[in-house]
Amino acid sequence: MTDERNITCIVCPIGCKILVKTDGAQFEIVGGNKCKRGIEYARSEALDPRRMLTTSILVNDGEWPLVSVKSSKPVPEEKLFSVLKEVGGTAVKAPVKSGQTIIKNAANTGIDIVATKTVLTKEVD
Ligand code: SF4
Repeated sequence: MTDERNITCIVCPIGCKILVKTDGAQFEIVGGNKCKRGIEYARSEALDPRRMLTTSILVNDGEWPLVSVKSSKPVPEEKLFSVLKEVGGTAVKAPVKSGQTIIKNAANTGIDIVATKTVLTKEVD
């Protein structure tokens, strides 16, 4: 079944509303893009939507109970739930360094989950 929908291009601040026709496998631009860069963006949104994942992971013995993390690459939308489930079941021991890989190959996506902050070990009085 062919579907028509608007995709807002986020490649530049103009934010063109690109009208596409897609059946999930094929895709056609109906119009709305002011330049060619929007075509690739609309194609990937229509056929293979992906999102950067930002969330946090539990830290044991840290100065903070959580560390913020992000995916190393945009995650395919259909894998977001599996990746979030793995993230939710993970705890890491302090110290954690910004840039440290916390989960390698999350949910078999080939995408890592990486710390975006440093959390030092909690000082004991
Ligand atoms: S289609 Fe081109 S002009 Fe329009 S938002 Fe995308 S990059 Fe910008």
